[in-house]
Amino acid sequence: MEELRRLTTSKQRIALMHESGLYTLKDVIAHLPYRYEEFNEKWPADEEGKILVEGYVADHPKVFFKGRLSRLSVNVEIYGETYNVTIFNRHFLVNALTTGKKVTIIGKMNGHRITASQLLLKDLQAQEGMHPVYSLKEGLTNKMFSNYVKKALSLVNDFDDFVPIDFHEKHHLVDKKTALYNVHFPANHEMMGEGMKMLKYEEFLKFEVTMQYIKMQREQSVGIAKTFDHQALNAFLRTLPFTLTKDQQKAVLDILADLQRPRMMYRFLQGDVGSGKTVVSSIALYANYLAGYQGALMAPTEVLAAQHYETLHSFFKESELSLALLTGSMSTKEKEDVYTRLANGEIDVIVGTHALFQEKVEYSQLGLVITDEQHRFGVKQRKALKEKGESVDFLVMSATPIPRTLALSLFGDMDVSEIHALPSGRKEKMTKYVPGNSMKPFLKDLLAYLASGGQVYVICPMINEQSDYPLKSVTQVYEAMSKYFQGKYHVGLLHGGLSDEEKNQVMNDFHDNKVQILVSTTVIEVGIDVKNANMMVIYDAERFGLSQIHQLRGRIGRGDVQGRCYLLSTSTNKEAIDRLRFVESTNDGYEISKYDLKIRGPGEVLGQRQSGVPSFVLGDIIKDFDLLKIARDDARALLVDYYKYGEYKDYIEIVKQNIKTGNEYVD
Ligand code: ADP
Ligand code: MG
Repeated sequence: MEELRRLTTSKQRIALMHESGLYTLKDVIAHLPYRYEEFNEKWPADEEGKILVEGYVADHPKVFFKGRLSRLSVNVEIYGETYNVTIFNRHFLVNALTTGKKVTIIGKMNGHRITASQLLLKDLQAQEGMHPVYSLKEGLTNKMFSNYVKKALSLVNDFDDFVPIDFHEKHHLVDKKTALYNVHFPANHEMMGEGMKMLKYEEFLKFEVTMQYIKMQREQSVGIAKTFDHQALNAFLRTLPFTLTKDQQKAVLDILADLQRPRMMYRFLQGDVGSGKTVVSSIALYANYLAGYQGALMAPTEVLAAQHYETLHSFFKESELSLALLTGSMSTKEKEDVYTRLANGEIDVIVGTHALFQEKVEYSQLGLVITDEQHRFGVKQRKALKEKGESVDFLVMSATPIPRTLALSLFGDMDVSEIHALPSGRKEKMTKYVPGNSMKPFLKDLLAYLASGGQVYVICPMINEQSDYPLKSVTQVYEAMSKYFQGKYHVGLLHGGLSDEEKNQVMNDFHDNKVQILVSTTVIEVGIDVKNANMMVIYDAERFGLSQIHQLRGRIGRGDVQGRCYLLSTSTNKEAIDRLRFVESTNDGYEISKYDLKIRGPGEVLGQRQSGVPSFVLGDIIKDFDLLKIARDDARALLVDYYKYGEYKDYIEIVKQNIKTGNEYVD
């Protein structure tokens, strides 16, 4: 049955609603206004001359036509004075504007002249208040839709309220029907706020219960307790070229405890760029190997995978462990060879890109999967991985650290480990904000650094010139620098438009110091490690997120040499400059992400898609963080009561159903 027929007989309007994805009465109800128009008197005019006021038509309007355009001019009396009001393309109002008629005018005023954007044939009082504005296809008006919503609200009986009654009471929340009504038809802000609070809380609660339910399920699931020879592990630790920092040790202990427990590990390891997560992952892989299992380390790009392979190779070189690399660009023959050796268990640890988890790839005894720079696995991905092994433990590493409370709230199905302190002996990075877009202020520095044998990154925001921004394009900079340094240094160019092969070539040349200056877009962002490159210049720095700049400068000063990063910006915008000054002032990735999250929001900072940051429809994880935290605690309490006393069964059923169908949060 076509449910929407209960709202309107117009096939056309029903079709328009379908186009917006609205098929049921509940869909209509759930389609909330995205903003409100408020009619409150604005008189006298504000600084921009804007007004909203009521008046009386003082005489006959005049209408002028020019081609298909029309202009209507009418004198209106407002608070005892006469003003001339002009409005375009409303000639049809002419007959309605009888002398003495009360009208509401919205527009802009200049002396005694008003240019109206709207001329409404109603008094102001009748319209004061909040008017919902919906996102609708053309052909549907807000007014029509409001009527449908009203009707739908009266026809629907069950509003699927996910908030148990006792939580409603605890937080003084209105019931869901009222909440929906308040948001669709608010008389004032307070009413709307009350409705919104309930709906946001419900959204967060459902999310938190789902995440924590998944976690509790995992805690109860029977995994394989891995046992390994601790002496052999200690022997391996002694071969490492440095001692672990306290935070690294703690992370290692967390992970080893997980591996030994008879349940699946699903742990989030966050730490700033250069905090030493790779060595932690190598220890996890080694323990897993000692326990008799294969391990896999997945990186987001080929370059990074190759780099991890090299790093692990150096860590494992004194051991028996057999390490291999698998990437998409390898020849079919090479790949086949890896597949065979993975399947028969010859390979102990494999490093690669997502190629690691293609269908063809079979493992003989996969026990641990580690991903780098990807915030989470969705449930589906984990399912796919699970098919590769009986009891796979997961470790997810991220170099965009976020505050712990936020991590716990967002990644509630994971355990969290953090590395804060950087390895000692690391020189503080120096970052300098340089107004303008010329290297002149630090050219001497740059030349001296190159002359001493160092290599330099030059980062630009985009590939080609875009006419409306005074941006330095990467090719432009590349050409200018090639010319300037001709015969002295080699300049390389790297951007997303190149083929993988070309990219690898340039990266390898830079790595081997055949190229001394690498001009690049942000493709180098993640993980590239060239120890001899300790200077970076970032053009149009205001175009980058702070976390991104932080990631970028994480590429330099990784050894014991001081890294120097210059942030060029022509922006005169105070906020933009403040932001750059902020990255200039601190090297703490946690502080930077906190600042960035506030200003740019989680999607921008963490990268919505691959980060797995849930996309809430209503709630804002930063602005509504307190509510999110409350929902997290409530979810925990709810689940405890469920497991202990079998309460809230219906709610858990809903959650189970969501997980089964892979709802938007979990994937
Ligand atoms: P991340 O992956 O967290 O960005 P890496 O694991 O690449 O960081 O480590 C950055 C650099 O610091 C590497 O050169 C690594 O060898 C070195 N390093 C890691 N841990 C330590 C430590 N405890 N002491 C000294 N150097 C370390
Ligand atoms: Mg790393």
